Amino acid sequence: MCQEGRPEDNGFGLRFLCGCVADAYLQRAAIQRGYTVVIWRGRHVVEPTELTSAEAVAYWLDVVDTARTLETHFQPLKLNLWTAGNGLPHLHTHVIPRFLDDPAPEGPLAYPDDLPDPFPDDVFRDDLAALRKLASSARF
Ligand SMILES: [Zn+2]
Repeated sequence: MCQEGRPEDNGFGLRFLCGCVADAYLQRAAIQRGYTVVIWRGRHVVEPTELTSAEAVAYWLDVVDTARTLETHFQPLKLNLWTAGNGLPHLHTHVIPRFLDDPAPEGPLAYPDDLPDPFPDDVFRDDLAALRKLASSARF
């Protein structure tokens, strides 16, 4: 993640929010509508505890802006923020809208080892365009 720079397309998703210190990528794989990964774009850090206080404030503001953008567009019942990094140890946070017809309504929705097929291109592009428009007016 450190070495990829700040691309528009990181292979897993397309960026809709380019924050002060982090980028938010809408995931192509049809895990859940709006499933997004926010990636810290500063020096290599694994845990949020390695950030200075100023960096932590900047990171979580970018995460919250991402979450608000998703909330505004998808109107989920609940948002889950998941900062794990067990498999890929560079600071990133999954921001997951949760819905009534969710596959695991009372528990976490894990990022699967075997990714499902991508969303239909028109659905993905429409969501991405709406999120980019909303994100351009962040900070909320
Ligand atoms: Zn790193």
